[in-house]
This record gives sequence, C-alpha cells and structure tokens, in this order.
Amino acid sequence: MWAIGKQNCGPVGSTIILRGWGAVDGGQGPVARFPGEACMQKTGLLISGFRHDTGNHPECSDRLRAIEEVCAQEDLQAGTERLQPRAATVDELCTVHDRDYVHRVEEACRGGIRALDPDTIISSASYEEARLAAGAVLTAIDHVIAGAMRNAFCAVRPPGHHAERDRAMGFCLFNNVAVAARYAQSRHGLRKILIVDWDVHHGNGTQNTFYADPTVFYFSLHQENHYPGTGHREQEGKDAGIGFTRNLPMAAGSGDGEYQEAFEQLLVPAMVAFKPELILISAGFDAHAEDPLAGIYLTEAGITDMTDILVRLAKAHCRGRLVSVLEGGYNLTALKQSVRAHLLSLFQG
Ligand SMILES: [Zn+2]
Repeated sequence: MWAIGKQNCGPVGSTIILRGWGAVDGGQGPVARFPGEACMQKTGLLISGFRHDTGNHPECSDRLRAIEEVCAQEDLQAGTERLQPRAATVDELCTVHDRDYVHRVEEACRGGIRALDPDTIISSASYEEARLAAGAVLTAIDHVIAGAMRNAFCAVRPPGHHAERDRAMGFCLFNNVAVAARYAQSRHGLRKILIVDWDVHHGNGTQNTFYADPTVFYFSLHQENHYPGTGHREQEGKDAGIGFTRNLPMAAGSGDGEYQEAFEQLLVPAMVAFKPELILISAGFDAHAEDPLAGIYLTEAGITDMTDILVRLAKAHCRGRLVSVLEGGYNLTALKQSVRAHLLSLFQG
C-alpha cells in the first residue's frame, strides 16, 4: 500500500495486480523514417520506460505491458506507427529543470538510492528511462511537425506532470510535457502551445513552469481537494501569465458529462482566442471510473469525446498538430480500455 497523498482514497493493493519484476526491454516495432513514408494518416506510437523498476508500486512497468497488449490489436496496429524514442539531452531537460537537480537525479539512480520522496521510487536505470520519457515526446514532436505523422501518443514512464524545477514528486522525475513545450518553441519556432491535463491529479509542476508565461496555456481538469492539493480555480497565472492557466477542480463523482461540458463551454472558446500552434495532452487515465486512486467517473466514451474535441481543435488551429503523453492510470484493465479509446480517436477523429 502506498501513500499517494493526503487525499489518497484508493484501495490500491486490492486492485492493482502486480506480476513479476525485472528489467524487461520494451519491444521495438518498425521504426518509421521521416519524411516521405506513407504514414501521414497514422498516429505515432512511442512506448518506453520498462526498465524504470519501482517494485511493488501502482506506477509500474506492467502498465506499459498492458498498453503494448492493447496496441497489438489489429485495428490499433493498422492506425499507428511505432517510433523509436531518443533520450532528451541534459540541456533540453534544463529548459525546465535546474542543472543541479538533473545531476542529483542521475547520481541518486547510479548510487542505488531507492526513493526520491515517499511516493517516488527509482532504480539504477531510472535516470536513463526518465531522459527517454522526455525525449520520446521530443521525437514525437519532430515527426508531427515534419508532417510524417498525423499526431502521436507517447506511452512513457516515469510520468512527468508533478515534477518541479528542482524536485521529484508524485512518481515523476522530469516534466516530460513541460520540456516538450519548451522544445517545440525553441527548436521548431512555435509561439503558442496548449497543454490540456486531464489526469485526475493536478499537474503542479507543469502549472508552475508556465505560471507567468502567456505563450503556454495550461488547462487542467482534476479532482477537487485531491493530491497534490494545488489547482484551485482562482490560480489563473501571474504577471504576464494571468489568464493563461485555467484550473477546473471537479467534484468527486463527476464524469463524462461534466468533463465534456467543460471542454465545450470553456476550453473551445478560450482556444478560439488563444489560437495554439500545438496541443500537448497530459493524458492520465486515473480519472477513469475503475481507477483505484481517485473518485472521478470517466468512461471510455468520455475519453473518446475529449480526444475528439482536441483533435478538432488541433485541426482548426494548428494543422492537426497534437502529441499526447501518458501520465497516470493504475487499473490495468481500465488503462487498456482508455488507451484504446484514445488511440482510435487520435487516428480516426
Ligand atoms: Zn494522476
């Protein structure tokens, strides 16, 4: 049983089935070269993080095995193209994180330290896997912006949205989505980026990274009064960033209808004004009704609706450019169903 936070309300151990451990290499599917291959209509799929060994913990590599299993289904295989991620460089990580913090993570992993905080377990390979997790999103952005992929889904671990500039937190080492937003701006010259975070927990690290920044709009739906305790409605940014952070704390028991309403009535009009050039999704699937860590009741239909809306927004404002990044999601059956719904919408929507 793991202490996830002060509002942890899930019977973790009873629901998460943990099988054997050990370093297992991720299967690498065919690697697409870009541009020029006929994958314009496909969704790029990047899976990495099998060697980030957290032991008997809900955020474990069985999550990736579950995703690989569902991605092997014939229709999902037909709509996706496996891509090989590269590792983010230290300089790329340092667009979001302190250099000293990055080195501390490296040393902790190599030195055999087992945890960076009570929730955040590491192993000897975790530093490399965390660099690959961030780098996978950069790889996805390169392919999507080059037009080689319709959009992309990065099933990576460790997750990222709780990671702060100088601190690991909530299973997260480096903030994958935040590093990706900075990369899209610096490498590809994009000016305005939307990050939608529907993980059931508030992405405190992402919010703090861009809190005073009017070029990155952070839109988060999360369970009210839940871990990590941030993300109140009145937190709307500061200085030049005021109005570019939007938090929607959802009451426990909320579900598909409330989420769809928030997207249609708040997000869509805000984006008509903001006009993003790229959409990033912090796609946590722990708001699913069957997830053990929270009390939101999303179903696969709700995940399809939200994804459809974001695919439409991407088509309307940013030539379809959308990259989705796994965050939470701890019931393996619900995770598989959620990822299936999400991917179908990404390549069919
Ligand atoms: Zn979460």
